[in-house]
Amino acid sequence: MVGHQVSPVSYAGKHITVAGLGVSGVSAARALAGLGARVTVVDGGDSQALRERAAGLEADGIAVRLGDADTLPEGTDLVVTSPGWKPESPLFAAAAEAGVEVVGDVEIAWQLRGPDAAPWLAITGTNGKTTTVQMLASILEAAGLRTAAVGNIGTPIIDVVLGDQPYDVLAVELSSYQLHWAPSLRAHSAAVLNVAPDHLDWHGSMRAYAADKGRIYEGNTVACVYNVEDPRTEHLVREADVEEGCRAIGFTLGAPGPSMLGVVEGLLVDRAFVENRQQQAQELAEVSDIAPSAGPAAPHNIANALAAAALARAFGVPAAAVRDGLRAFRPDAHRIAHVAEVDGVAYVDDSKATNPHAAQASLAAYESIVWIAGGLAKGATFDELVAASAKRLRGVVLIGADRALIREALARHAPDVPVVDLDRTDTGAMAAAVAEAARLAGPGDTVLMAPACASMDMFTNYTKRGEAFAEAVRALAAGRGERE
Ligand code: ADP
Repeated sequence: MVGHQVSPVSYAGKHITVAGLGVSGVSAARALAGLGARVTVVDGGDSQALRERAAGLEADGIAVRLGDADTLPEGTDLVVTSPGWKPESPLFAAAAEAGVEVVGDVEIAWQLRGPDAAPWLAITGTNGKTTTVQMLASILEAAGLRTAAVGNIGTPIIDVVLGDQPYDVLAVELSSYQLHWAPSLRAHSAAVLNVAPDHLDWHGSMRAYAADKGRIYEGNTVACVYNVEDPRTEHLVREADVEEGCRAIGFTLGAPGPSMLGVVEGLLVDRAFVENRQQQAQELAEVSDIAPSAGPAAPHNIANALAAAALARAFGVPAAAVRDGLRAFRPDAHRIAHVAEVDGVAYVDDSKATNPHAAQASLAAYESIVWIAGGLAKGATFDELVAASAKRLRGVVLIGADRALIREALARHAPDVPVVDLDRTDTGAMAAAVAEAARLAGPGDTVLMAPACASMDMFTNYTKRGEAFAEAVRALAAGRGERE
C-alpha cells in the first residue's frame, strides 16, 4: 500500500459516506477504509443479497446502513456516490445543506493516483463508449504498452489505480454520470464520440447532459478528439479549458481535412499526427481490418475505430499498431451480433441499442429491415430516428412499456410501414415478436432487434433481452428445420 502515501489527498480519519452498495460502492468503501477513513455505506435497499454483502464489509470494520438512503449519517465529511444515483437524490440535498462535498468513484481514483501513475486516455459519448475503449486498449496493447480498459467496464477504477499491476496508460470509459462527479479529472487526451438525448431524466436537460460530457476535455494536455459529423462535440472542445498546446482533432467518415482522421477509398487515414498535415496523410489500416471476425463493420464502428485511433496516435502509437489492434479487437455480445439466418432472413441482436441514437446507427447499417423495438424510453423521443430510417423499414414489431411513443412516431413519419403492436411487456413477448418479425420479413431482409429503449420493463438487463431474442431465433430455426 506504499503508493497511497504519495497521494496529495488524505482520507485518514475522515468520515466518508459511500452512497450505494454496488460494485463501485464496495470498491470505494474498502479502498477508503484501507486509507484510514471511517466509512459508512448507505443503500435504500434491504434485500438478503445486500445484507450478505453488508456483512462482508462490516466484518472489516465498515459500517453499513440499509433501507435508508435519504439522510446523511451524522458527522459525514465527504460523500462518495455510485454512478447511477440521481443528482436530486435526497442524500445529496442533505449533503449540500450540511456543506459536504459529493464526488464519484472516478474522482477518488483520480485523486489517489501517485505522481508516476499512468496517464488516462478517456472516452465518453452517448453511444459507442465500451466498443471504442476496447478498440483503444487493443491498439495500445498491439503497440506493446501495458494497459487496461477501465471505467464503466471491468475492474473498478479505484482498484486499478491502487492495484499492484503497473500500467503505461489506461483506456478509460466514462459515463456522463461519472464525469458529473469528477471535477478534478485531467486526462492526457479525451474523445466525445457523440451527444444525443439519453438519460435526460437523470441530467434534467440536454444542456446539462452535454455539459457533463464536455468536462472530459477539461485540462487535456495533448488532444481533444471530436466527431466532425456531430457539431455538438466540436462545440464542447471549444468551450473547454485545456493545457497550452493541446490540439483539437476531428474524426470523420469522409475524407479528412488537416488535423483529422478519416476514410479515403476504404482506408483509415491520419492527417493529424503526421509531420506536415497540410500535404501528408498516413495510412493506418483498411476498413476491413476492423474486427474482421464480426463481419463487415457498421458505419458507427468505423467512427469508433477512428476515435480510438486518434487517441492512440495522440499517445504516440505507430500506424501498424492501429491496424494490428483493430484486427485483434472482438466486439462484446449484443452489439450488432449476427444470430442466425433463417429462410434467407438475417437475425441481428443489437440489444445494447438502448436509446434512439444507437438504434438509428444500427438501422443505418442495413438496407431492408424488420425492426423489433420498444421498452423504457427514459424521456427520449423517436421522431428523428423514425424519419431517418423510414425508407429502410419493411415492417416493425413493437413490445414493451413505452411502445406507444414509437407507434406514434411511425404514424407520423412512416405511415405506410406495417406495424405489429404486441401490447405485451412480459418476458415471453420476445418469442412472439420474433415470430411476427419472421412473418413480415422476406429473403434478403434483416430482422434487427435494436429496441431504442432500455430493457428493464421486461428483462433484468439488455443482456437478458438479447439472450431472449437469440433463443427465440434459434427456436424458429429449429422449427423450420423440422418442417423441411
Ligand atoms: P456504450 O458503452 O456507450 O453504451 P457500446 O459500445 O456498448 O456503447 O454500444 C452500444 C450500442 O450503441 C451499440 O450496440 C450500437 O447500437 C450503438 N453504437 C455504437 N457505437 C455507436 C456510435 N459511434 N454512434 C451511434 N451508435 C453507436
